[in-house]
Amino acid sequence: MSETLFANGATIHLHKHDLPESASFTGMVAIDTETMGLEARRDRLCLVQLSAGDGTAHLVQLIPTTLGGRGDDCPNLKRLLVDPALTKLFHFARFDVAMLRRSLGVVVTPVICTKIASKLVRTYTDRHGLKDLCRDLLGVEISKQQQTSDWGAQDLTPEQCAYAASDVLHLHALWAKLDALLLREGRRALAEACFRFLPARGALDLLGYDDPDLFSH
Ligand code: MN
Repeated sequence: MSETLFANGATIHLHKHDLPESASFTGMVAIDTETMGLEARRDRLCLVQLSAGDGTAHLVQLIPTTLGGRGDDCPNLKRLLVDPALTKLFHFARFDVAMLRRSLGVVVTPVICTKIASKLVRTYTDRHGLKDLCRDLLGVEISKQQQTSDWGAQDLTPEQCAYAASDVLHLHALWAKLDALLLREGRRALAEACFRFLPARGALDLLGYDDPDLFSH
């Protein structure tokens, strides 16, 4: 069950329950999630957005079995999330990786995070939000207006779909810029070590080792 809409020059496919077989990705896929809140141990995963960086976004709406959906029965999406040949590109991967682990029972790997990359190289600023990166590195303005909307709704609005898509459409372009900066500043190996740690970081967060942080005194 899928529908297609167009917004801001992008093509957006909204799928219910799972990614269709026809949607395939190679190399690197940008991913984001929308949830009922920011507590990975508590809140429900509602939407998983994916893009190959080609101006098209696939949104997968996950609906609980209690509401007539298929819950975490999404084999195509799960296969993609654990595919060792497919790099998963996130902005603030720590949250999404923990959320996907708890909700779908998958250890997402390999992972890259534009927020970690930005913090490692853009040390002249403390603005590492996706909106900031899109503006500063790409000259693209994205709206965060729908961020706090109800992602648990059965019928997502076109505005919600456009917002959710915008969170994955620019990650490939951002990564290209940040990767060049990591090389320039000699921090690529350190970034890679941080990325490899992200699945464990997500697991630690789910166990409650986020506050106080495991690494704090
Ligand atoms: Mn998002």
